[in-house]
Amino acid sequence: MGIEEKLPSGVLLSTVEGLVGYFRKASFWPVTFGLACCAIEMMTYGAPVYDSGRWGQEVFRASPRQADLMIVAGRVSQKMAPVVRQIYDQMPNPKYVLAMGVCASSGGMFNNYAIVQGVDHIVPVDMYLPGCPPRPEMLIDAMFKLMDKVQHQPLGPNRVRAELEREARQLAAIPSEEMKGLLR
Ligand code: SF4
Repeated sequence: MGIEEKLPSGVLLSTVEGLVGYFRKASFWPVTFGLACCAIEMMTYGAPVYDSGRWGQEVFRASPRQADLMIVAGRVSQKMAPVVRQIYDQMPNPKYVLAMGVCASSGGMFNNYAIVQGVDHIVPVDMYLPGCPPRPEMLIDAMFKLMDKVQHQPLGPNRVRAELEREARQLAAIPSEEMKGLLR
Protein backbone atom coordinates (compact mmCIF):
# COMPACT_ATOMS: atom_id res chain seq x y z
CA MET A 1 0.00 0.00 0.00
CA GLY A 2 1.58 3.25 -1.08
CA ILE A 3 0.69 6.75 -0.01
CA GLU A 4 -0.29 7.53 -3.62
CA GLU A 5 -3.30 5.22 -3.20
CA LYS A 6 -4.50 7.46 -0.38
CA LEU A 7 -3.73 10.62 -2.35
CA PRO A 8 -5.00 10.13 -5.89
CA SER A 9 -4.84 13.87 -6.53
CA GLY A 10 -1.34 14.15 -5.05
CA VAL A 11 -2.39 16.76 -2.47
CA LEU A 12 -2.25 16.25 1.29
CA LEU A 13 -3.73 18.72 3.73
CA SER A 14 -3.09 18.36 7.44
CA THR A 15 -2.42 20.39 10.59
CA VAL A 16 0.81 20.88 12.51
CA GLU A 17 -0.79 18.96 15.38
CA GLY A 18 -1.62 16.10 13.05
CA LEU A 19 1.91 15.93 11.65
CA VAL A 20 3.62 16.17 15.05
CA GLY A 21 1.29 13.49 16.43
CA TYR A 22 2.09 11.27 13.45
CA PHE A 23 5.84 11.55 14.03
CA ARG A 24 5.58 11.19 17.80
CA LYS A 25 3.56 8.02 17.66
CA ALA A 26 6.18 6.46 15.40
CA SER A 27 9.16 7.31 17.59
CA PHE A 28 8.54 5.92 21.06
CA TRP A 29 11.61 5.05 23.06
CA PRO A 30 10.63 2.84 26.04
CA VAL A 31 12.69 3.00 29.21
CA THR A 32 14.32 -0.24 30.38
CA PHE A 33 12.18 -1.02 33.32
CA GLY A 34 10.49 -4.15 34.69
CA LEU A 35 9.01 -4.90 38.09
CA ALA A 36 7.70 -8.47 38.09
CA CYS A 37 6.46 -11.38 35.98
CA CYS A 38 4.79 -9.10 33.39
CA ALA A 39 8.27 -7.89 32.47
CA ILE A 40 9.03 -11.32 30.97
CA GLU A 41 6.15 -10.83 28.52
CA MET A 42 7.42 -7.31 27.84
CA MET A 43 10.86 -8.71 27.00
CA THR A 44 9.24 -11.19 24.63
CA TYR A 45 7.51 -8.24 22.98
CA GLY A 46 10.95 -6.92 22.03
CA ALA A 47 12.32 -10.34 21.02
CA PRO A 48 12.47 -11.54 17.37
CA VAL A 49 9.11 -13.40 17.29
CA TYR A 50 7.08 -10.26 18.05
CA ASP A 51 9.79 -7.79 17.05
CA SER A 52 8.77 -4.40 18.37
CA GLY A 53 11.48 -3.04 16.06
CA ARG A 54 8.85 -3.15 13.32
CA TRP A 55 7.46 0.07 14.80
CA GLY A 56 10.77 1.44 16.07
CA GLN A 57 10.83 0.21 19.68
CA GLU A 58 13.57 -2.40 19.56
CA VAL A 59 15.91 -0.33 21.71
CA PHE A 60 14.76 0.00 25.31
CA ARG A 61 16.70 2.97 26.58
CA ALA A 62 19.02 2.44 29.56
CA SER A 63 18.51 5.98 30.80
CA PRO A 64 15.15 7.62 31.54
CA ARG A 65 16.56 10.82 30.10
CA GLN A 66 16.56 9.21 26.67
CA ALA A 67 13.12 7.63 26.98
CA ASP A 68 9.57 8.89 26.51
CA LEU A 69 7.56 5.76 27.27
CA MET A 70 7.32 3.89 30.57
CA ILE A 71 5.79 0.42 30.44
CA VAL A 72 4.99 -0.44 34.06
CA ALA A 73 5.30 -4.22 33.81
CA GLY A 74 4.42 -5.78 37.16
CA ARG A 75 3.05 -4.93 40.58
CA VAL A 76 4.39 -1.78 42.23
CA SER A 77 5.47 -2.32 45.81
CA GLN A 78 5.31 0.56 48.28
CA LYS A 79 9.12 0.49 48.42
CA MET A 80 9.41 0.79 44.63
CA ALA A 81 6.84 3.58 44.32
CA PRO A 82 9.24 6.51 44.91
CA VAL A 83 11.71 4.95 42.46
CA VAL A 84 9.02 4.64 39.79
CA ARG A 85 8.07 8.26 40.31
CA GLN A 86 11.71 9.36 40.15
CA ILE A 87 12.26 7.55 36.86
CA TYR A 88 9.09 9.16 35.50
CA ASP A 89 10.22 12.61 36.62
CA GLN A 90 13.59 12.11 34.92
CA MET A 91 11.99 11.35 31.55
CA PRO A 92 11.71 14.37 29.24
CA ASN A 93 8.34 15.63 28.04
CA PRO A 94 6.22 14.60 26.27
CA LYS A 95 6.15 11.23 28.01
CA TYR A 96 3.67 8.40 28.25
CA VAL A 97 2.88 5.58 30.65
CA LEU A 98 1.39 2.20 29.86
CA ALA A 99 0.22 0.13 32.86
CA MET A 100 0.85 -3.46 31.82
CA GLY A 101 -1.14 -6.15 33.61
CA VAL A 102 -3.80 -6.14 36.24
CA CYS A 103 -1.28 -5.59 39.06
CA ALA A 104 0.12 -2.36 37.63
CA SER A 105 -3.37 -1.21 36.66
CA SER A 106 -5.17 -1.86 39.94
CA GLY A 107 -3.06 -3.90 42.35
CA GLY A 108 -4.66 -7.05 40.97
CA MET A 109 -4.65 -10.06 43.26
CA PHE A 110 -2.18 -8.32 45.58
CA ASN A 111 -4.90 -6.73 47.63
CA ASN A 112 -2.60 -5.93 50.54
CA TYR A 113 -0.66 -3.15 52.24
CA ALA A 114 2.61 -3.91 50.45
CA ILE A 115 1.40 -3.15 46.94
CA VAL A 116 0.24 0.16 45.48
CA GLN A 117 -3.33 -0.37 44.30
CA GLY A 118 -2.75 0.96 40.81
CA VAL A 119 0.28 2.79 39.47
CA ASP A 120 -1.98 5.73 38.60
CA HIS A 121 -1.69 6.72 42.27
CA ILE A 122 1.94 7.57 41.48
CA VAL A 123 2.17 8.57 37.82
CA PRO A 124 -0.47 9.53 35.24
CA VAL A 125 -1.36 6.54 33.08
CA ASP A 126 -2.16 6.88 29.37
CA MET A 127 -3.13 3.29 28.63
CA TYR A 128 -4.24 0.37 30.80
CA LEU A 129 -3.65 -3.20 29.71
CA PRO A 130 -5.51 -5.92 31.65
CA GLY A 131 -4.57 -9.56 31.98
CA CYS A 132 -2.31 -11.72 34.10
CA PRO A 133 0.04 -11.80 32.40
CA PRO A 134 -0.99 -9.99 29.24
CA ARG A 135 0.45 -11.77 26.22
CA PRO A 136 2.84 -9.86 23.95
CA GLU A 137 0.02 -9.71 21.38
CA MET A 138 -2.05 -7.80 23.94
CA LEU A 139 0.84 -5.42 24.56
CA ILE A 140 1.09 -4.83 20.82
CA ASP A 141 -2.63 -4.06 20.72
CA ALA A 142 -2.35 -1.65 23.68
CA MET A 143 0.68 -0.02 22.08
CA PHE A 144 -1.20 0.65 18.87
CA LYS A 145 -4.12 2.09 20.82
CA LEU A 146 -1.65 4.35 22.66
CA MET A 147 -0.12 5.41 19.35
CA ASP A 148 -3.57 6.32 18.08
CA LYS A 149 -4.18 8.38 21.22
CA VAL A 150 -0.83 10.16 20.89
CA GLN A 151 -1.55 11.04 17.28
CA HIS A 152 -4.67 12.95 18.31
CA GLN A 153 -3.27 14.81 21.33
CA PRO A 154 -3.24 18.62 21.38
CA LEU A 155 0.00 20.60 21.24
CA GLY A 156 1.61 23.40 23.22
CA PRO A 157 -0.16 25.10 26.15
CA ASN A 158 -3.35 23.12 25.51
CA ARG A 159 -1.46 19.90 26.02
CA VAL A 160 0.35 21.13 29.15
CA ARG A 161 -2.98 22.19 30.67
CA ALA A 162 -4.64 18.91 29.77
CA GLU A 163 -1.74 16.91 31.25
CA LEU A 164 -1.70 18.84 34.52
CA GLU A 165 -5.45 18.43 34.91
CA ARG A 166 -5.25 14.73 34.16
CA GLU A 167 -2.43 14.11 36.64
CA ALA A 168 -4.23 16.07 39.38
CA ARG A 169 -7.40 14.08 38.71
CA GLN A 170 -5.62 10.75 38.86
CA LEU A 171 -3.63 11.55 41.99
CA ALA A 172 -6.83 12.62 43.74
CA ALA A 173 -8.78 9.53 42.65
CA ILE A 174 -10.41 7.53 45.41
CA PRO A 175 -8.62 4.19 45.84
CA SER A 176 -10.61 1.11 44.89
CA GLU A 177 -10.18 -0.32 48.40
CA GLU A 178 -9.54 1.08 51.85
CA MET A 179 -5.79 0.86 51.38
CA LYS A 180 -4.02 4.07 50.53
CA GLY A 181 -1.34 4.60 47.91
CA LEU A 182 2.05 5.98 48.89
CA LEU A 183 1.17 9.58 48.18
CA ARG A 184 -2.07 9.62 50.21
S1 SF4 B 1 -0.44 -9.22 36.32
FE1 SF4 B 1 0.15 -11.35 36.71
S2 SF4 B 1 2.01 -11.63 35.50
FE2 SF4 B 1 1.70 -9.41 35.75
S3 SF4 B 1 2.86 -8.84 37.56
FE3 SF4 B 1 0.78 -9.29 38.21
S4 SF4 B 1 0.90 -11.46 38.84
FE4 SF4 B 1 2.68 -11.06 37.56
